[in-house]
Amino acid sequence: MFPVDVGPQYEGESVRKHDFYVEFGGPRCEYKGELVTLRSVNEVEHERVEVIGPDIKDMAEGTTSPLFIGVEVAGEQLEVDMEPVFERRIHQYCNYIEGFWHMAQRDHIWLRLHKESHKKGLRSLQEVGQIIIMLFTNELPIIEKMQVTFITDPEKVKEHVLKARPVYDARDERLKGMTEEGVEEFYGCVLCQSFAPTHVCIITPERMSLCGAISWLDGRASSKIDPEGAIFAVPKGELLDPEKHIYSGVNEIVTQRSLGRIAVCCLHSALENPHTACGCFQSICFYIPEVDGFGIVHRDFVGETVIGSPFSTLAAEVSGGQQREGYVGMAISYLKSPKFLITDGGLRRVVWMPSAIKEWVKEAIPADLFDKIASEKEVKNVDELVEFLQEAEHPVMSG
Ligand code: SF4
Ligand code: ZN
Repeated sequence: MFPVDVGPQYEGESVRKHDFYVEFGGPRCEYKGELVTLRSVNEVEHERVEVIGPDIKDMAEGTTSPLFIGVEVAGEQLEVDMEPVFERRIHQYCNYIEGFWHMAQRDHIWLRLHKESHKKGLRSLQEVGQIIIMLFTNELPIIEKMQVTFITDPEKVKEHVLKARPVYDARDERLKGMTEEGVEEFYGCVLCQSFAPTHVCIITPERMSLCGAISWLDGRASSKIDPEGAIFAVPKGELLDPEKHIYSGVNEIVTQRSLGRIAVCCLHSALENPHTACGCFQSICFYIPEVDGFGIVHRDFVGETVIGSPFSTLAAEVSGGQQREGYVGMAISYLKSPKFLITDGGLRRVVWMPSAIKEWVKEAIPADLFDKIASEKEVKNVDELVEFLQEAEHPVMSG
C-alpha cells in the first residue's frame, strides 16, 4: 500500500549526509518545528493530509528545506497534557518509515529521506502523513481523529514556529515550583533503546528529559494513556544520598532497564555516575579539566567549541547509552532548573556556552555570574578561556 516498508525495525537507522535525497530542518535551517494540538472532534477531518509549499517531488536532490509539522488530534478522552506525549511519537513513527529519519523535537527538528526510499517511490509528504496517521491511530486508539499539515513554504514555517514557541514555553512553565522532594514518583522513558539499548531517561520535575520533549507532567500523562508503554512511573524509593541525589527506586529501574549495565544514577552530576544519553540530547555539558569547569554546547551550534571539538564530535563521545564521566546530555531548559548539576556546583561551575544559549537562559543565570561565563564571542580556545576567567574572576578560579 505504501512505496516503502514501515515498522519498528527501521527505527535505529540513520540517513547519512551522502545518502539523503532531501532533508528538512536541522542546523542549516533557521526555522523548523512540530506541534501537536488537541482540537474538538468536529474541528478535525480524520486522515486529512495537507502540504503547504513545495513537496518532495518539487525539490532538487541534495537540498535542505524548512519544515513545520502540524498535527491536530481529537478524541473524547484526550487531555491537553497529552499533546507533548503525542508530539514525541512523531519522532518515533517517522523513524518507523524505511529510509526516513527524524531527529530532535519542538523547534529543533531535522529530517532526511534516503535516496533509496526516494527511488522506491516515496516522493510526497502526503504519504508520510498517511503513514504516521495510520501508526498513531493503530497504536493509540484513544485518538479518534487526526489530521496532519506539512508546511515547507519558508514564510509560513517561520510564522508557525513563532506561534509554537510560546506553547512550548507554557508547557515548561507549568512545572515551575515543583520539586523532586515534593513528588512521590519520577518517570522513565526507554523510547530510545532502539538506538541506545542501555539508555533510560529519568524524568523528574526538576530534570526534563534530555531530548527536551518530555517533562515530568508529560511522563505522568503518558503513563496514564499507556501504562505498559515506553514511558512509565518510577517510584522514587529511598533517597540514598542527598548530596548526589541517588534514589533507590531510580537505581532499581536503571539497573533493570539497562539489563544490568548501569547500576547507579546520580541525577544531577556530570562527574560521577552521570545520567546516560542516547543521541537526541538538545545539548551536551562537557568537563574542561584545565579550568575544572563545564562547557555547554547545543545541537544548532555551528563550529568548534572552546575545547576545539564541534557538537558532533562530543555527541559521538556521549551517546550510545553509556555512562561517560565528564559528559552529560541534557535539555537546554535543564540549565534553568534549580537542581542543574547541583552535585557538581551548578551554574557556578559553568565557564563557557554559546551566546545563543546564554541569551536563552539569561534569567536563570545569577546576575553576578552572567558576564563571567565566556561564549564563542569572547574566547576561541582553552588558553583564551583561562585568561578570560582569570580576568573576570570566575568562581572556578578562586578554588
Ligand atoms: Fe524518551 Fe529520553 Fe528518548 Fe526523549 S531522549 S524519547 S525521554 S528515551
Ligand atoms: Zn534519544
